[in-house]
This record gives sequence, C-alpha cells and structure tokens, in this order.
Amino acid sequence: MNKNDMFTAEDVYDFVIIGSGFGGSVSAYRLVEKGYSVLVLERGRRYNAEDFPKTNWNIFNYLWMPGLRCFGFQGLVFFKDMWLLNGSGVGGGSLVYASTHIKPRKEFFQGPEWCDLADWETELAPFYEIANRMLGTAENPRFWPADHVLHDIAGEIGTGDTFEPTPVGIFFGEPGETVPDPFFGGEGPDRAGCIHCGGCMVGCRHNAKNTLDKNYLYLAEKFGAQVWPEQNVLDIRPLYGPQPGAARYEIAFEKITDWFFKRKGTVRARNVVISGGVIGTVDLLLKCRDETRSLPLLSHRLGNRVRTNSEALMGVTARDRDQDFSEGVAISSSVWVDHETSVEPVRYPPGSSFMRNLMLPLVSFEGGTLRRFSQVVKSAVRNPRDFLDVRVLPNWSERNTILLVMQTAENRMHLRRGRSIMTLFRKGLISEQDRENPILCVVEAGREIVERFASKVNGVPWVGINDMLDTPNSAHILGGCAIGDNETTGVIDINHQVFNYPGMYVADASAIPANLGVNPSLTITAMTERAMSRIPAKDEMGPVRPLQRPAGLDMIQQTEERRSLLLKAAPFAILLALLPFIFGAFKLLRKKK
Ligand SMILES: Cc1cc2nc3c(=O)[nH]c(=O)nc-3n(C[C@H](O)[C@H](O)[C@H](O)COP(=O)(O)OP(=O)(O)OC[C@H]3O[C@@H](n4cnc5c(N)ncnc54)[C@H](O)[C@@H]3O)c2cc1C
Ligand code: SF4
Repeated sequence: MNKNDMFTAEDVYDFVIIGSGFGGSVSAYRLVEKGYSVLVLERGRRYNAEDFPKTNWNIFNYLWMPGLRCFGFQGLVFFKDMWLLNGSGVGGGSLVYASTHIKPRKEFFQGPEWCDLADWETELAPFYEIANRMLGTAENPRFWPADHVLHDIAGEIGTGDTFEPTPVGIFFGEPGETVPDPFFGGEGPDRAGCIHCGGCMVGCRHNAKNTLDKNYLYLAEKFGAQVWPEQNVLDIRPLYGPQPGAARYEIAFEKITDWFFKRKGTVRARNVVISGGVIGTVDLLLKCRDETRSLPLLSHRLGNRVRTNSEALMGVTARDRDQDFSEGVAISSSVWVDHETSVEPVRYPPGSSFMRNLMLPLVSFEGGTLRRFSQVVKSAVRNPRDFLDVRVLPNWSERNTILLVMQTAENRMHLRRGRSIMTLFRKGLISEQDRENPILCVVEAGREIVERFASKVNGVPWVGINDMLDTPNSAHILGGCAIGDNETTGVIDINHQVFNYPGMYVADASAIPANLGVNPSLTITAMTERAMSRIPAKDEMGPVRPLQRPAGLDMIQQTEERRSLLLKAAPFAILLALLPFIFGAFKLLRKKK
C-alpha cells in the first residue's frame, strides 16, 4: 500500500500547532474559536497545581534536560555565547514564568528591523488590551523589602518616578480562597487567591497564577482542541499536489519520555503553526532546511539576529536574616534606571535555592577564563564567608534577591546547526556572536544597582558563573525568525506566514524583532493575537489549495542527491587516488631491502 493511502481525509487536522507556550496556546484558542480542528503537539509534560515540586531541588520534576531524563518544566540551555533559561510543558514558559506583563516603550515599535512594514504601535494597541484581559493582568497589590530598597535606589539616582508595582497575571482574590472562574464568565476553571508565597517560578501549587492551561489553552481544549503532551516534533514535510483531505504538511514526532526506542508517529494537516519558542522553533526549522532538507526553501535569514533582551541576571544575598526577601509574588516591582535599562527584584520561595549552584560572588573579572577562575578562587579565600553566603549557607531564599536587568540596547547573535563541545560534538544548535553588535556579558548599569542594593542590605553582590566565562545569560530569548517583506529580508511575512510555504506560520518569541527592555510574554501574546485575527473563520475560508511543487525544487534536490552521493563516495575515491603512491612506496621499500 502506498504510504499516502494510509491517511484518510478524516485524519487531517485543519491546524497542527507545535508547542503550547504563549504563541501556541493563543493560536490554539483563536483557531478553535474560528471553527478549525486543532491538534497541539507539546514535547513537555502536563502539570496540575499539585504536580509542581515543593522545592526546585526536586530536579527530575523541575529541570527540563531530557538527555538526563529530567522532564520538568525549567529548561537550562548552554551555548558557547549565552546561557539561557526557558520553559517546557503544557503551557510552555507560563509554567515557570513570574507572570510579569509590561508593554514595551515606543522605541520597540519603531525598531529598524520592522518599522517600514506597519505602524506597529497603533496596529498592536488593541491586541495588547485583549492579551491583558485574557491573561488576567492585575497590579501587584503589596510591596516587600526588596521593593522598598529598589525604590530608594531609584530615588537616589533620579528615576524614582518610573518605579511601579508590576502588572502580573495572578488572581488576587481572598488569599487561599477558591472561587468559581473569575475571568471568563464561568467558562474558565475555578481559581484561588494568591498567598504571596514567592513560588511562581517553581510552579504555582496554589492555583493562583494565570498559566496558559488556565486561560487560552483551557478554553481551546474545552471547545475542541486536542493537546498531545510528551510529543517532540522532529520534521515537517510538505505534501505536494492533491492529497486526501487536502493535507499540505506531514508532521513527524516521537514520544520524548520513552526509554531507548522512542515511539514515532506522524499526523497530517492543512496548516501548521510553529510555536516552539526561539530554541524549539529555530532548531526545528534549521533541521528541516539544512539536514532533513524537507523545507529547503526557508529563508537564509533563519536563525539570524537572535537577542537576549540585553539581559543580565545578578543579585544580592544578605549576610543576616533581618528581613525576609522570599515573600511576595516572584516579581513585585519594576523601575527604569536609565533611558534603556529596567530592573526588577525577583525571588524564590523558602527551600528553593537550586539556582545558587549557578552563582558566584561578584568579582571584577579580567582576562581569559583561567585568570577569571583564579580571581574567583582568590576572592573565596580572602572572603570565605561571602562565598559561603552566596553558595552554601542556609536560608538563601529568605536572604536573597535576584535583580533582573533588561535593556532595549541593540545587540545580537546567530543560531546555526553544527557541532561544538556544548553539543558533545553531535549535530545540534550552536551560537555565533554578531561581529558588529555582539552581546556583552556585563551590563554596567545593572552592576551599579546591584552594588547599591548590596550596600543597603549588608549583602554580598553576586553574578552568574557565566560571567566567569564572559558569557551573557537570559531568561528572555527573542528573534531568529524575522518578519520581512520578502524571503531575503525575513523568514515570515507580516501575517507570520512563512515565505515559500503557504499555510505554515511561526507564532512565538522568535518573531520578536528587537530587545524589549521588559518581559516579553505580553508582547508575544499580542503579536500572536494579531496574527490569528488575520486568518479568516473556517466557513469564510475558500477551498484549501494543494501545495504546488516549487519550480527549481527538483533541481535543488537532484543537486543535493549528487552532493550526498559524492560525499559518500569521497573516501573510496581518495583511497583509489592514493593506491599508485602506496604501491610505489611499497616497491621502493622492497628494492631497498
Ligand atoms: C524563570 C523564567 C521566568 C520568566 N518570567 C517571565 C515573566 O515574568 N514575564 C514574561 O513576560 N516572561 C517571562 N519569562 C519568559 C517567558 O516564559 C518566555 O518569553 C515565553 O514563554 C516565550 O513564549 P513562546 O510562545 O515563545 O514559547 P514558550 O512559552 O517557550 O513555549 C514553547 C513550547 O514549545 C515546546 N516545544 C519546543 N520545541 C518543540 C518540539 N520540537 N516539539 C514539540 N514541542 C516543542 C516547548 O516544550 C514549550 O512548551 C520567564 C522565563 C523564565 C525561564
Ligand atoms: S506568589 Fe505563590 S500563590 Fe501567588 S501566584 Fe506565585 S506561587 Fe501562586
């Protein structure tokens, strides 16, 4: 039987969505609402409130590192040029995020990468409103010790008027009291009031944080979308010409949580939305373009101009326990410390000190890695108590404040497929700094605030171990699938449709075209709302046109086949070419004897 005959028209979904973070969940709900059949493939696990770990030392339930069989929701990704935090699971990054929703400043909408394509500020304005309503944004009602310290610092440096409580996606009803759905006129799930326990980034066990599985994705599933967790998408293959059910793409996936032999599957769809977050989306598309060659016509811009929000994660550990810094929602206030830099105080709840493993007391690093390492050792010997305070002594969360520093400054790097020590020399995603505008590890404006904060709370300022390696870090990776007016300037068009692949969309942080200087989820949500608003309802959509085999594709594939044949034959050809010399050398040796 021909493989195509195994699929009937009923097996074909209108949309398959890859990933269930902000881009994926918004897309799922809006497409189901428009009458489409929707399947969401998500590589992470599904979590209920009680499934989240009590502390983040429960690494198998907290970390997402499938190679080590850690199938939690907090991803740690290490590249040569950046260290990243991201999220995995049904609900994507919302499971681990601090739920801060801030609209970026004007400059973002006028960024050079996309300003010629639309008046983005005006165009996106109504979608920010929808995003805030759907995500249940409310102002954090209570300040805590770290907020007061940051407010004082802002006053001293003359930016006190920019200090604000954070708008957050949290339900502030009566603390701990469960009530019927307060957001969607009774269509949503029951919710409970926030108890300000500081646990948002270890997963809210109290049903108060508005994760996507409680709003967009909840409604999408309620109205018919299917979500298949633990399914890692490996390939997207276009189906050219007429197909049963007007299918246009076949999506191949495997069950990521299986041991050794992972079960594999395929589904077919008339359209695909790729929402794997920057790392998931760029990696999958680069693989499809350069390795499986299923999507060879993707723009050469893919993976270019990836940004880290020009971010630095640093902080202060107080030497004594006069004040408790662990209480409150995870991010309770924000302030601009200069025209391009914002700072937010961030906290973990008591017992959740796993992240201190990535931290070191702040040293003025100079020279290469070895010299920097020796500086760390010297500082630890000179000030052992400071070293122990940051890395070992108890009650870290109660004494600690992370300072999240974000900038609108332009700097970037690129993502490619290749081999490096970070991929253990297997094929994987690797980073490459931009030559003109590299991302710097040290954000001076942030360091100044950290030092001021430390002196006010009698604390030890710290940075990430990545500083010792002169590598920036971020929890807010952006870009890699630029919006452009054609395939030479971008990967997707202004409606988020991929150039050269009708019915294929990208909707997630990889479409964000500049550093925001604030947390990105609200913007990802607003941009996806706008993109989905441009897809007509199913009953207004005409018949789906089959994918036409692009002119020149046969030639590209033939050239590819020839190239791969040549590569396979190369070792034999070299051996044949060397044979006369080997024989010659052998004869010479025998003559000499
Ligand atoms: C600790 C932490 C705190 C944060 N706090 C905030 C905050 O307060 N405010 C804010 O705005 N932002 C915050 N962020 C950032 C925010 O979480 C991300 O910017 C956001 O989640 C990105 O959304 P996305 O739609 O691009 O993709 P994601 O939310 O990252 O979702 C992508 C999903 O796709 C899945 N996926 C990837 N590849 C595949 C594949 N091949 N097959 C199947 N599934 C796949 C992933 O498992 C993931 O679930 C925080 C991030 C971290 C790590
Ligand atoms: S502070 Fe605690 S209760 Fe409130 S949203 Fe965060 S984790 Fe949930």
